[in-house]
Amino acid sequence: MIDDFVGGATDRAQEGGFVLPGHQNIMLMEVVRNVTILVVGSVALDTVETPFARVEEALGGAASYFSTAASLYNQVNLVAVVGSDFPREHLDFWCSRPVNLVGLQMQEGKTFRWTARYHLDMNARDTLDTQLGVYAGFHAVIPTEYRSSPLLFLANIQPELQLEVLEQMPQARLTVLDTMELWIMTERPRLTEVIERVDMLLMSEEEVRQYTHQSSIVAGVRQLLNMGLQYVVIKQGSYGALLFGADGTYFSAPSFPLEEVIDPTGAGDAFAGGFLGYLSTVEPEPGGRYSIEDIKCGVVHGNILGSFVCEDFSIGRLRTLTMDDVVVRYQTLVDCSHFDPNWRPIRIRNKV
Ligand code: AMP
Repeated sequence: MIDDFVGGATDRAQEGGFVLPGHQNIMLMEVVRNVTILVVGSVALDTVETPFARVEEALGGAASYFSTAASLYNQVNLVAVVGSDFPREHLDFWCSRPVNLVGLQMQEGKTFRWTARYHLDMNARDTLDTQLGVYAGFHAVIPTEYRSSPLLFLANIQPELQLEVLEQMPQARLTVLDTMELWIMTERPRLTEVIERVDMLLMSEEEVRQYTHQSSIVAGVRQLLNMGLQYVVIKQGSYGALLFGADGTYFSAPSFPLEEVIDPTGAGDAFAGGFLGYLSTVEPEPGGRYSIEDIKCGVVHGNILGSFVCEDFSIGRLRTLTMDDVVVRYQTLVDCSHFDPNWRPIRIRNKV
């Protein structure tokens, strides 16, 4: 199943790529085989209320959104725990995708549950309840077959658990970290340890302010980069994302303008799925690092996957998403963010 998926993408690329009506012909990237992505994070049942609708106990959790998004590009190795009440249908869905479930434990007890309510401006939400369930006291043991994954995503979960996984993956080529308000408030010293050991951090503007106590985002990012990070990505919801590099890189990736947002939950996790999914399809440079152009392109893929998630509750839209859909949105973002690089001011002489 997994080989079929990866081979299919490569075959289509070799056939000449996708031809888009009204767009230029885009070659689908050559898929680098056997590049797997390891993720640890929450698998949850979410109750979410927007100003227009509500869902109860839908499939959620940072690792769920990430795995579903990234599995569009390559194989994902999932490390997580669910309770004995976790619906079987969700596992069946992942079995139909290149998502390896060997590292997904099922324990007696309750699955992680999260309840939130969105404001009319759906960039803002309130967490009403978080129940760790079987995550309280869970320890991750990385299966041997996962340990060679070069790309590691520490999705939102207890920093202690993120550290455990990091320690078992010393050879990872690129390590990316996400977190949330709850962990910044309750686990700050542990979270700081994780930040000091990863390559890239994803945060919203609010989380940067909360963690760094800086009101300026640029000053907050500077403080974070000084902790040893190579990159910081600021997720700006419906406004896109900003990439800052320790090498001085600054890149602003536009968002895809959605007319209707059904539910933004998981957009940040799908962003990470698009980012690392894309990187899993390109070759790193000889020293093992990804080129800055590929990192930027990954941020654009992140924005695209994040935008699709918002079109339905839970992972609804990701279930039917195809690489052809991603290609169309990619081209739209290229078109809307290109402008004349050769503009020069014209000197106007005053008449005498
Ligand atoms: P996002 O919208 O990208 O911030 O991700 C929201 C997802 O993260 C939801 O599906 C929740 O189940 C999950 N989540 C919420 N709070 C936490 C938390 N404290 N730790 C881990 N996962 C969480």
